[in-house]
Amino acid sequence: MTDDLFSEAVRRLDRAAEYARIDSEALLRLSSPRAVLEVSIPVRMDDGSLQVFRGYRVRHDDTRGPTKGGIRFHPDVNLSEVKALAFWMTCKCAVAGIPFGGAKGGVVVDPKSLSRLELERLSRGYVQAIADFIGPETDVPAPDVYTNAMIMGWMMDEYSVIRRRRMPDVITGKPIPLGGSLGRDDATGRGAYNCIRELQRIRGWNPTDLRVAVQGFGNAGQHVARLLAEDGCRIVAISDSRGGILRENGIDIPCAIRHKNSGQSVYSEQSVCGCPVCGEADCHCDEGPLSGSTLISNEELLELDVDLLIPAAMENQITSENAPRIRAPVIVEVANGPITPDADDILSSRGTLIVPDILANAGGVTVSYFEWVQNRTGDYWSTDTVRSRLQEIMSREFHAVYDRMTEQSIDMRTAAYAHAVSRLGEAIACQGTSHYFSASPVHS
Ligand code: NAD
Repeated sequence: MTDDLFSEAVRRLDRAAEYARIDSEALLRLSSPRAVLEVSIPVRMDDGSLQVFRGYRVRHDDTRGPTKGGIRFHPDVNLSEVKALAFWMTCKCAVAGIPFGGAKGGVVVDPKSLSRLELERLSRGYVQAIADFIGPETDVPAPDVYTNAMIMGWMMDEYSVIRRRRMPDVITGKPIPLGGSLGRDDATGRGAYNCIRELQRIRGWNPTDLRVAVQGFGNAGQHVARLLAEDGCRIVAISDSRGGILRENGIDIPCAIRHKNSGQSVYSEQSVCGCPVCGEADCHCDEGPLSGSTLISNEELLELDVDLLIPAAMENQITSENAPRIRAPVIVEVANGPITPDADDILSSRGTLIVPDILANAGGVTVSYFEWVQNRTGDYWSTDTVRSRLQEIMSREFHAVYDRMTEQSIDMRTAAYAHAVSRLGEAIACQGTSHYFSASPVHS
């Protein structure tokens, strides 16, 4: 993890500004977060000892609406990363055209080492520490890496206890019975799938001809793999933090999902590397998902000769070191920031089409926005309504970005940032720029 992830992230703005109408003052505003909070969270552990965890919440920009962004529980969380993730959320909400700004939160912890009670105390403790910083009209958190619906439910409950009234609109990604939205569970993967479908139409691809590799088999990775497999694409490789599997004939994704999500723990105890071979008691598919497969490392997965590569795990997976060996002609960034700027230059110069994170994974925050609207109106939507509204937004914004890319002869990431920056610049300009104030004196 680089120390200057945030500085690197913000540098994308300068490039985008060459292709979008935006005032230099607006760029200046977007170059620093609006507010940064660092907290310590004391947690009583099951053995009676006290541990103090470090946590962050960053609100990057709220010009277009309350800030919005997930909470990550991971040992590598650091302030620069949280600031970068908050910045990406600002751009993502602008790309999707939803009325939110960007934020992010994180706690430095290995959540898999905690018991369920310790995890609940940590989740509630984090909300106690940031309660004055968040709220339905200021900053609305959501899940991210190693946080899930149950954790969102605990956090909503803790905030409601603090405010002395039930406030489901303070957080999204909640369990359905606690005010969550239908269709939120697979929204990130589905939004990426919607983008891939649009690309298929434009390029005239036949799904059954597509060989796909997916790095990361959590919420985002599982759903995009499942939806593509349902269309007939061959998912030849999947992985998680412990490594991956490669199977040329295609992996049985429903079976791999069942295996990965089995077990009683909050976090999966299973790795895709241990998928059952056909004939084993817990294999329910016609043809074993592992027969004829080999174990591979995450590094090997990224370098496979596939038609479509989907990084859906963590940042900085494709760097200047391994970029020259990446063979996939199309990469869809379901994870946030999986390709470093140096690697991006290498891949773009070789003609690799990269559907950037701020577009490809915008489905999650879009349905989070739907959840927030439903909580505030009390009008709850059907799964079909959620999916069709998501598809409408993803298709519209995909084409807006794709058309800008072709019209301005730029890469898709620059086009997505230019699209975001245009909307952000327009909103910031409504409050007045130096040009406006110097040209129109208030008193003549
Ligand atoms: P998750 O916790 O559900 O799953 C993460 C997966 O990545 C797990 O399978 C884990 O084993 C794997 N993993 C962790 N480190 C890895 C590594 N070094 N190499 C390979 N695999 C590794 O998380 P998620 O919600 O699926 O998030 C994944 C990515 O998608 C993150 O970058 C996140 O910011 C992004 N994202 C998620 C959402 C959402 O709604 N969940 C929305 C937008 C973006």
